[in-house]
Amino acid sequence: MENFNSILFDNTCIRCGGQDSPLCNECCALLGSNPATCPFCSRLSAMRTPCQFHRGQAVTAGLSLAIYADNFRPVLWAAKFKRNRLLAELLGRTLAHAVKQTGWKIELVTFVPSHWLNQIRRGYVLSELCARTVATQLKLPLSRVLVSRTRASQVGLARRKRLENPTKRFALREGVPHSVILIDDIRTTGATLERCAALLREGGARRVYTATIFAENMR
Ligand SMILES: [Zn+2]
Ligand SMILES: [Zn+2]
Repeated sequence: MENFNSILFDNTCIRCGGQDSPLCNECCALLGSNPATCPFCSRLSAMRTPCQFHRGQAVTAGLSLAIYADNFRPVLWAAKFKRNRLLAELLGRTLAHAVKQTGWKIELVTFVPSHWLNQIRRGYVLSELCARTVATQLKLPLSRVLVSRTRASQVGLARRKRLENPTKRFALREGVPHSVILIDDIRTTGATLERCAALLREGGARRVYTATIFAENMR
């Protein structure tokens, strides 16, 4: 009952403790204020393409709404693990708005999958919920073309672990059109997005865009 109550009746902002649950206007405004950077690190990149240190990747360009370290940890936690669906939907809409602003020509929306056991446990998968919102708002098809083979979550894993982990975690189910956008909740090293993007390219994609709610401040 405690979770249930906190979702329905807690009227404070998860990030700052101010009014207007689940995220106050000021904290909402921080989402999307992130400058255009390389999709793998925090170096500025006007076209959101990989910087000189991350050239030759499968990811064409990518965006993130906010830096995770800017007190957004409890926000991601609430949306991803605590079943705060209102918050998750708000994040999805904000992400969709940001994707729309880029002007990227996209034919298909997909997402970094979570293992089905996680989905049952949590009720929804944040990356999928966001992808669904992006697809709806941009009037694009959504397809679950990637599957997860392991249940492991990347959250909380040490950086070295995360880097070695993604290679075996995913598989592609079917071919994809030339231009695809890949949605996830957080970009850390970018290794997961890169692995999924490489699979999408094997499946026929020539341009793979990425969009995540949060990004780690990587250099
Ligand atoms: Zn706030
Ligand atoms: Zn970079």
